[in-house]
Amino acid sequence: MSLLDKFAVQRGLAASLAENSRLAPIATPMDDVHSATSATIDGRRVILAGTNNYLGLTYDAECRAAAIAAIESLGTGTTGSRMASGNYAGHRALEQALATAFGWPAAIIFSTGYQANLGALSALASEGDFLLVDADSHASIHDGCRLSHATTIRFRHNDPENLDRRLERLGDAARRTLVVVESLYSTLGDRAPLREIVEITRRHGAWLLVDEAHSFGVFGPCGLGLCEELGLLDDVDFIVGTFSKSLGGIGGFCLGRHAELELMRMVSRPYIFTASPAPSAIAATHQALRSVLRGHDLRARLWRNAERLYAEVARLGYRLGTTAPGPVAALVFEAREPALALWQSLIDAGIYTNLMIPPATPAGLSLVRISLSAAQSVDDITQIIAALDAHARQSRPPLAA
Ligand code: PMP
Repeated sequence: MSLLDKFAVQRGLAASLAENSRLAPIATPMDDVHSATSATIDGRRVILAGTNNYLGLTYDAECRAAAIAAIESLGTGTTGSRMASGNYAGHRALEQALATAFGWPAAIIFSTGYQANLGALSALASEGDFLLVDADSHASIHDGCRLSHATTIRFRHNDPENLDRRLERLGDAARRTLVVVESLYSTLGDRAPLREIVEITRRHGAWLLVDEAHSFGVFGPCGLGLCEELGLLDDVDFIVGTFSKSLGGIGGFCLGRHAELELMRMVSRPYIFTASPAPSAIAATHQALRSVLRGHDLRARLWRNAERLYAEVARLGYRLGTTAPGPVAALVFEAREPALALWQSLIDAGIYTNLMIPPATPAGLSLVRISLSAAQSVDDITQIIAALDAHARQSRPPLAA
């Protein structure tokens, strides 16, 4: 067996997807992007319904102006780590703004959301500690666990009883255990039972980190996420998030209710050994944060779109990953072929969505992930529903069978 033979599975998968679809459904090439909701793919204009641009801020006039001004005054990149030459006033100001928004003492920003999980988990937990993570967590959480050298234990997805039993078994070691969950899971669009998870974690004396990547900007009176919405900000120890979804930029953060988080900068390798975010990314994100904090209307538009789409999708007979409306609507199939057929129908109708297939999905499911955005118009949503309706009518066997 040679070094490259291990790619046989991927070669087979790529060939089968190419055979069954005119256009690449994975890593679909975007010829051009025109706005938060419009792009050209394969020479045709499409509606974007497969991004994480929940508030549509990528084209926000103030965010763009802030990014351009930062490039003009500070250049295109920092060329250094925060520990060396890349620790600009803008980085520190954004950290301060995040900490202030949460009323917490410490915030650290990272160059991506992926690195925020790697950096937080590997610094908070080390050999002799325990990480107790939801089995369906994002790859960055699982990779952060590996980098930490702590003992990692998975508990069943969104199953508080299973978490309870595992903490019980850890006994006194629960005090050296960090429980890690997401608040909104982006594959099926389901939410964690955070109240139960908080209660169980506290009862056992363990610590809790919540990844709010897909819920920051979406939930809560100030848009701070699901913990804020549920009134749990005094009960959670750490929150990780990203700048690449609602905030429309690139970068990530970890916030802590404990001032010691600040010391993490001295040990977190994914923080230390990489260049700090570009000044333009920081300036755009800081402006986007201001919009989120005063963003009731943006959130209201997102929720109007989400509630309408969820109601219509269920009426058409599609199976949804969850019944509670949210910014992600996952149309779920047991097999890969009907998911691919739906994805193809939608792109042919001028709607771009995400096709997700095993092993990137939970429970071997295949799904078409539709994401909502505050920037989508009433007409965009009408067109998405019409395309779903047309596909459901021509499906054999019928979807609801
Ligand atoms: N956490 C979760 C739950 C995510 O879904 C993602 C990205 N999909 C990340 C972290 C990583 O964020 P980024 O893409 O900004 O690196």
